[in-house]
Amino acid sequence: MIMEVSTGEPFEPSASPLQVALRQLNIACEKLGLEPGLQRIFANPKRILTVSVPVNRDDGSIEVFQGYRVHHNVARGPAKGGIRFHPQVTMEEVIALAMWMTWKCAVADIPFGGAKGGVVCDPKSLSQGELERLTRRFTSEISIILGPEKDIPAPDVYTNPQVMSWIMDTFSMHCGFSVPAVVTGKPLEIGGSQGRNEATGRGCVYAIQEAAAALGLKLNQASVVVQGFGNVGSTTALILHEECGAKVVAVSDSTGGIYNPGGLDPRKVLGHKKRTGTVTGFTDSEDISNQELLSLPCDVLIPAALEGQITRENAHTVSAKMIAEGANGPTTPEADVVLREKGVFVIPDILANIGGVVVSYFEWVQGLQHFFWSREEVNEELRKRMARSFSEVYSVSQEHRVDMRTAAYMIAVRRVAEATRIRGIYP
Ligand code: GLU
Repeated sequence: MIMEVSTGEPFEPSASPLQVALRQLNIACEKLGLEPGLQRIFANPKRILTVSVPVNRDDGSIEVFQGYRVHHNVARGPAKGGIRFHPQVTMEEVIALAMWMTWKCAVADIPFGGAKGGVVCDPKSLSQGELERLTRRFTSEISIILGPEKDIPAPDVYTNPQVMSWIMDTFSMHCGFSVPAVVTGKPLEIGGSQGRNEATGRGCVYAIQEAAAALGLKLNQASVVVQGFGNVGSTTALILHEECGAKVVAVSDSTGGIYNPGGLDPRKVLGHKKRTGTVTGFTDSEDISNQELLSLPCDVLIPAALEGQITRENAHTVSAKMIAEGANGPTTPEADVVLREKGVFVIPDILANIGGVVVSYFEWVQGLQHFFWSREEVNEELRKRMARSFSEVYSVSQEHRVDMRTAAYMIAVRRVAEATRIRGIYP
């Protein structure tokens, strides 16, 4: 299926991530006056690999899972992006996520293209052994397009450093020698980078600090609401609370949220979630729904869960001064219009959450050089890169009088377009 370029009317209420990504691309291309041929290239992924993943279950049965690895664009370097394990993964969603990776790497100005992978499964219902067999077989099936110079996966929703270890080991077994640079987000013991595990959340905090300075907002007096309490949401909440003195008033996960206007201690919430499997039921807080959470009055709202959370239907209820998108694709283009009219300052996903892939880049470089950096060096380099990307996007948004998302897209699309023009279209 080749995506045709159209001006695209609003797709809501059922806007899929791919429709959202194409619409965002379209807005940027119009602003840039980009040649339709280049837009046509960017609207389509370079390659899609669909695989069947048979797994021996612990009960002796065999189950077959569907998996995808998509390369969206490699004009600026090897394909880069995470792998998610989630029951609702679809091929279209993985294409959108791969496309967003292309723009993120370009906004960060790191030499990667965009990729994403997904396996349709419920990892919570798999034993550790089943998860390992699933990961190894999926890796084996997609290994024909992986490699440090070709495609470098990383963690995403419901995958973690342990899963990355199995990917690294499986790929290495195929090669007959260790290839640490084939994957990032690995544990330190096998060539991971200091600071990678918390990098997306830490980068998000750095972006929020830059935005706060630009808007004259004091973070040590700010109230924060976080949707999603996985790696990104929990890390962002912890750092904002412990290092910036912000008051985290509400957090949520897939089962629901908790609210305390006087402030929560994210570390204690994390302990409660580890013990009980959910943030709900935490002491000294009121249980709320994810919808209620998104409309809470606060200074900073951080959607750090899945796509399509802030839509035309609920955008008018948002009462935050600033939104920092820890998740990929949490806001639809129609919601963007509403937020803009309300004067909400949005740090878009392709800027707010690039910290993960930026430190992935550092991990890849360290792996290739066999020379490792301290945590301080990693964090300082991450801070510099986040500040630089933020200031570039902010300047374009001021200069062209566009919102931050359009500005980030304009920078990203321009960079990938330039690389494509210089390389030319083969043959
Ligand atoms: N999955 C993360 C993201 O969406 C990290 C990707 C990477 O490090 O390659 O940005």
